[in-house]
Amino acid sequence: MKSETSTLPFRLSPLPYAFDALEPVVSAETLEVHYDAHHRGYVENLNKLLPGSGYEGLSLTELVEKSEGPVLNQAAQAWNHDFYWKSMTPKADLTTPDEKLVEAIRLSFGNLESFRIEFEKTAHTLFGSGWLWLVTNPNRELSLLVGNNAENPLRHGLTPLIVCDLWEHAYYIDYRSSRNAYVAVFLDILNWNFANENFRAAQSSPGLTTKMRPTGKFSVVKNTPISGDPEPEKNHPEGSGFKSSLGFGY
Ligand code: MN
Repeated sequence: MKSETSTLPFRLSPLPYAFDALEPVVSAETLEVHYDAHHRGYVENLNKLLPGSGYEGLSLTELVEKSEGPVLNQAAQAWNHDFYWKSMTPKADLTTPDEKLVEAIRLSFGNLESFRIEFEKTAHTLFGSGWLWLVTNPNRELSLLVGNNAENPLRHGLTPLIVCDLWEHAYYIDYRSSRNAYVAVFLDILNWNFANENFRAAQSSPGLTTKMRPTGKFSVVKNTPISGDPEPEKNHPEGSGFKSSLGFGY
């Protein structure tokens, strides 16, 4: 008979850098609590919830795509945090968006500075806890989305390139109530190489749109449309799903 620990399906992924590697943008204290308490908690809770849930045997990504309810909440939070750590990099290792991503940013936002402004504005639209995502679709269009709680773009047929954690635990020790201050400096440690890799991978996965699920609660805040006339602003009632009213094609 296996011991309890050997049957646990998921383990906390290692942090890709030391606790103090993102200072002064993210303090060692924040990173240690965020990773060692919050992220670990999601993984441990997921392992407790899985037995008898009907979702045993699925990968973490499959759980994000297919599960519902409490299992989904914990799985998505575990997945999102893995993605968040990779979305940041120590300042000594800073990179830049590659040619293809720069072109996509130009088409969708105008230029890098406009992207930065839009990123901060989009973060500001989130009420409560959640995540700010830069995503792409198979047409190489980019969009900034905020999702509440444990929302994840994979559930909407979109490919995330980077994510910023907008839960209070991500910034409260360092920035107190100023989420805007945290978001502004987050961009200083953005891991562009990670975004480049994800963008390249997305271009070779044309089947993504078929996975779209009309059940999410994403707020869509979109950049300038690439082509065609933008549709007028629409209200999307709760449960109407992930829709872009601004030419994103979903
Ligand atoms: Mn978090």
